[in-house]
Amino acid sequence: MIVEATPSVVSEINPWLSAAARFDQAAELLGLDEGLRKVLRTAALEVTVHIPVALDDGRIEVFTGYRVQHSIARGPAKGGVRFAPDVTLDEVRALAAWMTWKSAVVNIPFGGGKGGVICDPALLSLGELERITRRYTAEILDFIGPERDVPAPDMNTNEQTMAWIMDTYSMHRRATSTAVVTGKPLDLGGSRGRPEATGRGCMFVTMEALKRFGMAPANTRVVIQGFGNVGGMAAKLMSRAGFRIICIIEYDGAVYNRDGLNIEALMKHRHETGSITGYSDAEDIDREEAFFLDCEVLLPAAKENVITTHNADRIRAKILCEGANGPTTAEADAVLAAKKVFVIPDILANAGGVTVSYFEWVQDRQGFFWNEQTVNERLEDIMVASFRDVVGYAEKHNVDNRTAAYMLALDRVGFAIRLRGLYA
Ligand code: NAD
Repeated sequence: MIVEATPSVVSEINPWLSAAARFDQAAELLGLDEGLRKVLRTAALEVTVHIPVALDDGRIEVFTGYRVQHSIARGPAKGGVRFAPDVTLDEVRALAAWMTWKSAVVNIPFGGGKGGVICDPALLSLGELERITRRYTAEILDFIGPERDVPAPDMNTNEQTMAWIMDTYSMHRRATSTAVVTGKPLDLGGSRGRPEATGRGCMFVTMEALKRFGMAPANTRVVIQGFGNVGGMAAKLMSRAGFRIICIIEYDGAVYNRDGLNIEALMKHRHETGSITGYSDAEDIDREEAFFLDCEVLLPAAKENVITTHNADRIRAKILCEGANGPTTAEADAVLAAKKVFVIPDILANAGGVTVSYFEWVQDRQGFFWNEQTVNERLEDIMVASFRDVVGYAEKHNVDNRTAAYMLALDRVGFAIRLRGLYA
């Protein structure tokens, strides 16, 4: 970890409290009436299910699962399902709200939802995971559906999990319904461009930020934390687009090349050796210090709470593109603002994933599939328009980009609630 939780940071590293603090601030600035605040603070639906499953050794175990729909004001609930031992209803609730704001920022017709099952996938066989998934789906069947709530992969769930959910739902409905989940395999109605979508979205918004500063990719040094789906794809695509990716930070080390790393070669090296370290065309450097390298763009794409009041003043990047969810604590926002770091907040920067999930849902419902170029062009249109909406809003109302993103989201969801008269 870049930042270990010391007692003084513990209070600031609860990402749900951080999100709540930002909600309160945006609601206050918008002058949102108390009634609407109550609606937006509360999840519309929370389901807890107990899932009996036969384990491989013949024993029966009962797992607990949740599905929360925070808001369906702007469209069906949308959000992932995670499998982890420490899933809690509070966490699922907060993540569902987060999805409402993210969908609203990029102006796609979804609300926010999230689900989870308390289990340890490392201790379960594939068969056990399949039975948990199918039983969980059967228990929440009445609440999900293409028009109601559309799950997707999240921590420890993947394309295969989505295929099982889709199949279980379809068997019960007695009709194949691909649009009930996104993040499916391509052969079962998945979308082209989905694996790259979040990293690609990060690239599009970073390019928009560069334009504002009159900068060009070739003169832009980028440091990326996390070389997984988001960070790896962002690194690959940004490097192809001419950015100089000078450093990649992983949990076991960091590699640096001041002239820019060859990302495809680094991926091959990691594939062969299991680590990014020891790559011949770069220097191994201290991974904690790497975060504070002099660069134009810092792209945290690993985990939450890596920028806190304990280290924010050491950030030397001009632009912070938040690929991960919740990488910056609410308290650290003020430090970054004082340093004039241009922040592209997570609910905008990493919304490329939910945007292409939306495209997947649209294609499934049309029964007509787009080529990758169409997916990427439409993604670019949405990311660029959303960046301009957020930054324009920030300038107009004289607030930082994150506050603007939350204000825009709350305003859009609040407007839909009023227009529908959703409180009658
Ligand atoms: P991932 O598991 O594919 O990749 C994360 C990478 O970060 C892994 O390679 C891991 O080894 C590395 N890592 C973990 N801890 C680290 C540390 N302390 N320092 C450096 N590296 C570390 O996950 P992902 O899908 O790329 O997601 C990354 C973040 O982006 C998460 O916060 C996730 O919620 C968010 N996100 C992902 C998507 C998506 O479409 N995948 C969409 C929106 C947001």
